[in-house]
Parts: sequence; structure tokens; C-alpha cells
Amino acid sequence: MRKLFIAGNWKLNKTIPEALELVNGLRREVGDVEEVDIAVCPVAVCLAEVADATGDSNIKVGAQNIYWEDTGAFTGEVSAPIIKEAGAVYVILGHSERRQFFGDTNETVNKKIKAALKHDLLPIVCIGESLEEREAGKTIAVIQKQCEGSFAGLTVEEMEKITIAYEPIWAIGTGKTATSAQAQEVHAFIRGWLKKAFGADLANDVRIQYGGSVKAENTVELLSQPDIDGALVGGASLKVDSFAGIIKNAVGIKK
Ligand code: PEP
Repeated sequence: MRKLFIAGNWKLNKTIPEALELVNGLRREVGDVEEVDIAVCPVAVCLAEVADATGDSNIKVGAQNIYWEDTGAFTGEVSAPIIKEAGAVYVILGHSERRQFFGDTNETVNKKIKAALKHDLLPIVCIGESLEEREAGKTIAVIQKQCEGSFAGLTVEEMEKITIAYEPIWAIGTGKTATSAQAQEVHAFIRGWLKKAFGADLANDVRIQYGGSVKAENTVELLSQPDIDGALVGGASLKVDSFAGIIKNAVGIKK
């Protein structure tokens, strides 16, 4: 059985006091939820304080990106050992905004995954097609290429630590959600690809989140699909009520 996993990507939002207000509110609302894995991913500079504030609750903390070297002359970057020490458990890698604005590619995502795993971080690896690619009928080909490139050279044991987030770019921050059928179709393809590449047991174990305008109102419909194991949430993760609403609606959905 796969446990549902809801992660909030706060992107470039929240000062330290604002981040603490949000995480304290979440802790009150959903800090003792055990049926669903929960993570919040603040701006790197807020990681340590947000991690401290989660205390012994079930809310874990993730970063939004890392560089693949541990240390060195890489101005402005953060690395796996540094976020790990700050309290991160997860790290989002290859988000479409990073691919679009900061030059992340399948090859660099692959290096970042390996760096994260070396330091016992759990990567949340984002893949997804643009509107243009979907309309040209290229969705599956794009997803396959992203999987092949991002997960190249990884072992089954390493893949067990990974969560995949399928995020159609046209659904991110647009209010346009993929229909549950559209999302399920791609999730099923990804699981089929995992089976061919890494075997049936691994394919059955890996969690595949959906991301793209998830809110409390569409959580049950999306997460009830057989291959959708949670959500990566942007906008709706920035307020206690909306993020807690998604988590509460996910409780009780079984895979
Ligand atoms: C995201 O950025 O990962 C995301 C899914 O954003 P939103 O929920 O705002 O569409």
C-alpha cells in the first residue's frame, strides 16, 4: 500500500515570521494527522526555523532546489548537506519553474537527485509537459524522455527514496486542473515506465503526486484515481485553511 503524500511548495513566498505563522497554524490543524505524509517546502533561508517549529509533529520540511556539489565556488547556491543540516527531509528537484527560468535540464536534475540521495534526502522529482506539447500529442513522449533522463543510472534501492510529481505545466498556477482522467492516464504511463525500467515491486511502491491547481475542492476526485498518490501544491499551500483542507480531504483515501 502506498501512503498518500501531500507537499506544499511555497516557492518565493513568506518571510521568516510569515513562514513560522503558517507552519504553526498547520501544526495546530494537521500536525497529528498520521494517515497522510505531509511536507512543507519554504524558501531555503527559512528552512531551519520552519523545521524547528514542526517539532515532533508529522509535518516534515523540504527544500525547493539544491546544487549538485556539496561546497565550493558556486555563489548563490545551496547544497544537500547544508539543507540536510538545516532540517530538510525532502527536496523538490526539476520543478518546471526551475527548468523554465533557471536552466534545469533532465541531466542536471539527474545530478541533483544523486547529490540528494548521497546525503539521505528524499527527492520529489517534477516532470510534466507544456500546453504546446500536449496539444501536439507529445505528452507521453515528453514524460518518457524526462523519466529516462532524470532517473538515468539509479538503482532500485535509490528509486525507492524518490517521489515523482507529475505537474502539467499548463495547470500550474493557472487555476486549470487536469481532469482526473487526464492525470490518471499520465500517472499510469509513469508507473508502467517504472515497471519496465526497475521492475514491478518498485513500480508498485513509488508514490506519484499530481500537481497543478490542486485545492481542497478537487482533492478527493484527483486522489481517488488508482495511480495518484498525493499532491504537490503551490498556491493553495500558502494558507493554513486551504492546505489543511487538502490534507483533511486526503485522509481516508486508500491506495
Ligand atoms: C507547483 O508549483 O508545484 C504547483 C502545483 O502550483 P499550483 O498548485 O499553484 O498550481
